[in-house]
Amino acid sequence: MDIIRKKTGVVRDPRYLCHDPGIGQMEVPRRLESIYQMLDEEEIQSITRTIAPRFATLEELEMVHDPRYIELILDTAGEQRRYLDPDTMTSPLSCEAAWLAVGGVLEAVRLVLESEVENSFAFVRPPGHHAERNRAMGFCLFNNACLAVEFARRRFGLERVLVVDWDLHHGNGIQHFFYEEPGTLFFSTHRFPFFPGTGDFDEVGRGRGEGFTVNVPLDAQKNDADFANLFRYLLVPIALEYQPELIVVCAGFDTHHEDPIGGMKMTEMGYARLAKILKDIAAANCGGVMVMMLEGGYDVLALRNSCRQVLRTLAGLPIEGEEKITHGEDSSLGKIEPVIERVRGIHKKYWRNL
Ligand SMILES: [Zn+2]
Repeated sequence: MDIIRKKTGVVRDPRYLCHDPGIGQMEVPRRLESIYQMLDEEEIQSITRTIAPRFATLEELEMVHDPRYIELILDTAGEQRRYLDPDTMTSPLSCEAAWLAVGGVLEAVRLVLESEVENSFAFVRPPGHHAERNRAMGFCLFNNACLAVEFARRRFGLERVLVVDWDLHHGNGIQHFFYEEPGTLFFSTHRFPFFPGTGDFDEVGRGRGEGFTVNVPLDAQKNDADFANLFRYLLVPIALEYQPELIVVCAGFDTHHEDPIGGMKMTEMGYARLAKILKDIAAANCGGVMVMMLEGGYDVLALRNSCRQVLRTLAGLPIEGEEKITHGEDSSLGKIEPVIERVRGIHKKYWRNL
């Protein structure tokens, strides 16, 4: 008896492995290779449906990026190496991968909004959340999340999209793109001060967008319970008041305790927990529609195992060992309480629910 419907889509394609920033870099093809091996496991095969990507069109890229910047990226095609920024370099096929990464994310959005799948996870490279309108930055060429939102708005007429960024780093590109408008609510947890330097408490949006950027800057060493509590006490009340029509998630796994750069203490189960909270918000507001996309995460094994748990959660399977991870979450907020209070203090004038 097959009681699990395949309602979770996964975007994958071998061409994403062809973006190779070179020796000594962290954002390497091996990351996705390892995830793709996990996607081939029997259990994951039984709960997911593969989504084939397409290339984004020029018009789609121009929804977010400056035409001259798109030309600059096109110009790197076939070139051995181009240094776009101290962290960001291209190989001959990077342009193709980046173009396909955007198209993969857009296909994930389309299939979710057309009810072909309930939710989806785009396992693409290069990542996107640092990319600015006219500049590559922090391993990112095109801003996949911004493009997903603009596509959902223009093609499907959505008016309220929630973007949640749980990567270790602040999604500067997303914040800047939507900073002055209320049609996108950007919620980010990130280490601070840290690369890229943005994302302090008082960055709340401007003009009509004031209150629609919610930054939660954090010290090192935050764990599963801390992140779950931040989501539960800040994100959930705000999101339920905002009533998003779609949730877009920048899923980075560089807050994992094994990550070589993060300094945070998340585990695989912690990400499952965050995914469950997001799934519940989506279920309450928009029939469950949610699109995740891969951002950072540089310990290959931790990355693969974390993605596996998130996929299981997206597909509706129970979280393994849930009793353990909820321990301490309800009884005491501990060291995270001042952070919650600080964000509340700043944002309660925008959100009644806080
Ligand atoms: Zn990151």
